Amino acid sequence: MMTAIRNLSLEEIEKADIRDYGMYIVPLAKKMKEFIAASNNEDAAVVAALNNFDSSYELLTVLKDKCESICLGIDKIAELTGAKKKFIYLPEGCETFAQCLKKYAGDELTIEYGIVPVREHRGSLIVHLETARKAGDMALGNDYDNTPVKIEMIGSETKTVFEMAYVPYGTPLSELASIDKDNVKMIKVAGRLKGLDFLNTSIEKDLPLGDGVIRIYDKICCIVDQVQKDVKVNRSRSCGKCTFCREGLAQQDMRLDEIEDKAGVLRALDVMKKIGESMVYSTQCSIGEFSGLEAADSIDMFRDEYESHIKKKYCPTGACKSFIRMYVDPRKCDGCMVCLNVCPDNCIEGMEGYIHIIEDDYCSKCDRCIEVCPQNAIVKTIEKAPALPDRMTKAGRFKRY
Ligand code: SF4
Ligand code: SF4
Ligand code: SF4
Repeated sequence: MMTAIRNLSLEEIEKADIRDYGMYIVPLAKKMKEFIAASNNEDAAVVAALNNFDSSYELLTVLKDKCESICLGIDKIAELTGAKKKFIYLPEGCETFAQCLKKYAGDELTIEYGIVPVREHRGSLIVHLETARKAGDMALGNDYDNTPVKIEMIGSETKTVFEMAYVPYGTPLSELASIDKDNVKMIKVAGRLKGLDFLNTSIEKDLPLGDGVIRIYDKICCIVDQVQKDVKVNRSRSCGKCTFCREGLAQQDMRLDEIEDKAGVLRALDVMKKIGESMVYSTQCSIGEFSGLEAADSIDMFRDEYESHIKKKYCPTGACKSFIRMYVDPRKCDGCMVCLNVCPDNCIEGMEGYIHIIEDDYCSKCDRCIEVCPQNAIVKTIEKAPALPDRMTKAGRFKRY
C-alpha cells in the first residue's frame, strides 16, 4: 500500500516547533530560513548526520528503523529551502543502514562515512538525522512530537536502565527509571555535567540530549579517571584541522595524565578549565565545541577531588590504579614465593623464607598475587601503607609494626 505523503510548509514546521536534535536544539525553521537567506551557491546542500561529537552512535539503534522518514525528511527540507544537493553522513561500518536508506533515497542523495567535514560543507544546512526523521514523520502523518532517549547507570559496571526509545516530550525522568539519588554523584548529558537536581527534570524540547544517552554516575566513579578516559576518546576523534581542538585536547590529556601519574600541579586545573571554555569559540564543529567542557565542568563541580589527587596523592573513590597501594603484610608473609612467581610485572622481590616486598611503582594492580597468596598477606588499599621492611627480612622477624 502506498503511504500518503503530505506537503509541508516552512510555517507548519515553525508552528510544530521542531528543534534540531543533539547538541544545539535550534528550531529547524530558523535554520532553514537562515539557509535560504544566505544561500547563494549551487553547492549548498542539506547535510544530515549525527552530531560529530556523538561517539557512542547509540541513536542508530532507533534511527535504523526510520530510513523512510529520514530520507523523506531530507527531501522535504531540501525542497522547502531550494537546496540542490543532499548528503547523509554515517559512522564507519554502517553499510547495512546505508543500504536501507538507499531504498528510499533519490539519486541525488549521497551517502558518506565519518564525521561531517564542516569546512567542506560551509554554507550548507547541517541537521541531525533525528531532525530529518521528525520532518519525514510529519510529512507521513506519523507521530513526530517525541524524542529518543536512553538512560545508563555508570559505576563499577555500566548498565542500561532505560533502553533507547522514543518518549513523548514532557516525560519526567523519574517515569523512565527509578534512581537511588543517595548513590548518584553526577549526571552527564550532551557532554555537560549536571548535579542531582537534574534528576527532577523532564524530557523537553529545549533539553539538548547529545547522543541521546543520559549517563548517571554513581559515587564509586572517580572524576579524574572518568574525565581522563573521555578526553582520550574525544582526542582520538578530532580531525586536527582546528588548532584549539587539536592542541586543547592534547593539553587537557597531558595534564590529566600528570595528575594520574602523581605529578599533577594545582595550576593545571585553571589551565584545563580555560582551555575547555576557549575551545567553544575557536573550533569548527561539535567535537571541538563540547569536548573540552567536561574537564571544565568537572573542575567547577569536583575541585576538592582533583585537589585530593594532586596534593594528597589520594583518590577518594579508589578508582585510579596509580593511587592504589599494594603491599605485603610483614606479619603474615611466610616467604613461600608463590606471589613472586605469578607476578607479570616482576615487581615482587623476595627469597624463600623472607618477607616479600612489592615495588608499588611498577605494579599494574592485576591482583594475581592476592589471588594466590596462601596467607592472605597481600593488601590492596587507597590508604597510606604502614611501615614496611626496606631490606630482606626473615619471615616472622619484622618487629617495627
Ligand atoms: S573542531 Fe575538531 S573535529 Fe571539528 S573540525 Fe575542528 S579539529 Fe576537526
Ligand atoms: S598486583 Fe599484579 S603486578 Fe602488582 S604485585 Fe601483584 S601480581 Fe605483581
Ligand atoms: S604468596 Fe603471600 S606468603 Fe607467599 S611470599 Fe607472597 S606474600 Fe608472602
